[in-house]
Amino acid sequence: MHTLDVAIIGAGFAGIGAAIRLQQHGIHNFMIVERAATIGGTWRDNTYPGAACDIPSRLYCYSFAPNPNWTHTYSGSAEILDYLHALVTEHRLRPYIRLGHNVTGLAFDERTGVWQITLEGRALAMLARSVVLAAGPLANPSLPDIRGIDTYRGRKIHSARWDHDYDFTDKRVAVIGTGASAVQIIPELVDTAATVKVFQRTPGWVLPRINRRTNNLVKQLYRKVPLAERLARHAWFYGHESVAVGVVWNSPLTRAVELVGTAQLRRQVEDPWLRRQLTPNFRAGCKRLLLSDEYYPALQRANCTLITWPIARICEEGIRTAEGVEHRADCIVFATGFDVSKAGTPIPVVGRDGRLLAEEWARGAYAYKSVAVSGYPNLFLTFGPNSGPGHNSAFVYLEAQLDYLVRAVGTILERNLRMLDVRRDRQDRYNAAIQRRLAATTWNSGCRSWYLTEDRFNPTMYPGFATQYVHHLRSVDLDDYLLVESTAGQ
Ligand SMILES: Cc1cc2nc3c(=O)[nH]c(=O)nc-3n(C[C@H](O)[C@H](O)[C@H](O)COP(=O)(O)OP(=O)(O)OC[C@H]3O[C@@H](n4cnc5c(N)ncnc54)[C@H](O)[C@@H]3O)c2cc1C
Repeated sequence: MHTLDVAIIGAGFAGIGAAIRLQQHGIHNFMIVERAATIGGTWRDNTYPGAACDIPSRLYCYSFAPNPNWTHTYSGSAEILDYLHALVTEHRLRPYIRLGHNVTGLAFDERTGVWQITLEGRALAMLARSVVLAAGPLANPSLPDIRGIDTYRGRKIHSARWDHDYDFTDKRVAVIGTGASAVQIIPELVDTAATVKVFQRTPGWVLPRINRRTNNLVKQLYRKVPLAERLARHAWFYGHESVAVGVVWNSPLTRAVELVGTAQLRRQVEDPWLRRQLTPNFRAGCKRLLLSDEYYPALQRANCTLITWPIARICEEGIRTAEGVEHRADCIVFATGFDVSKAGTPIPVVGRDGRLLAEEWARGAYAYKSVAVSGYPNLFLTFGPNSGPGHNSAFVYLEAQLDYLVRAVGTILERNLRMLDVRRDRQDRYNAAIQRRLAATTWNSGCRSWYLTEDRFNPTMYPGFATQYVHHLRSVDLDDYLLVESTAGQ
């Protein structure tokens, strides 16, 4: 069977970006396998009303594929998806993509230096010398573990699997969750639904978003003078980098971020009771910051109610809260986030000597520079452990990962290596430093968030500036790796 040089798992921004970078390095023997029927990842799946990025579009795209045509400061889901499709067309990637291919496992054959990639419903495994696992950090929606959830007889809709056929007009809607997706959905729902009840566990810090339509003259300028576009991107980048001082670390700037949030709350919410309910009880940055100008006004619409009693159970007709009130609903919207692989892996990954990555990660995931894991040679992760950005665009981190892994794959091919395996001691040293630095961050300052495991281990976020992360990944130091050459004929 044909052995690929590289198999890429996932056709979201990471998988497509990996393919483009491989092509640009002259590597063409690769395949992208995607479980869904279309490409797109996050932006194929998150099509709820109001879905948009919360990092400015100028920065939420590849620096090597700038888009002068973004219509708004923060573009909507459909426009972001169009951008991804345009990349695929421009780089002629269609023939490399296999849709409807759900990868169910990866196993490394040490003898041949080849990964076997098993696929759901297909007898034959794919073979590849290297694998890029780009299955997405937020690809699997999660429903909350609430008693009675299966007994509910109305419509259940997760924000990442929006039901566009469901007509919300005149419906009684319950929304569970008040995070990043909820603050985008609720202002849209209050316009159509009869009533919207928002079930809040913890209020987040909501900062102004200030979304502007991009002037046509500005678009023309960016088209004609790419340097102007680059400068705008840099300005956004360094603006966000400076915010890290307040968002990543508990510093006087954290207080400044909180003052901005409090000022918006005071300006937009007059009722003291509601204000109190919406005041966060954790440091800004500890959970993901929320950006919205419309969320607080939406909560105060006549047809919207904020419920702060804990949910006791979901029943046939709606939601019962701890004080015994049953809130009837025709539909429950779950804006409850994703199953994030903090401990364990989304699919079984078997490395050298039959070791299982899920077992090694059972207490929390770790990797070398978030990209490679010792004992799993020629395997490269995108958005792997401790690469999460709290304050800047995922694309900055992603580009660094792609350049790193393309260099590593290039080394495997040029030197005809059977294995490029990161050394355990280097990995341990790297992670000890990461965890030491995490101790001083806002994420570890006491709140419960999806960044942490049950034991409050943080395998998710990168404790520093994006610039530092990029610097870590600027080159592949082969001294960090064990290199095993292929024997003749392999
Ligand atoms: C609503 C929302 C808004 C966001 N906004 C921002 C933002 O403003 N700024 C920011 O920096 N980040 C944002 N993010 C984070 C976002 O996830 C990343 O920016 C980025 O899109 C991730 O791209 P990806 O390719 O790694 O993952 P995904 O886009 O999730 O793509 C992964 C792909 O892999 C496929 N896949 C998964 N498992 C398998 C398998 N076993 N076999 C085959 N295929 C598989 C999936 O179907 C999917 O298509 C947002 C996330 C969400 C959910």
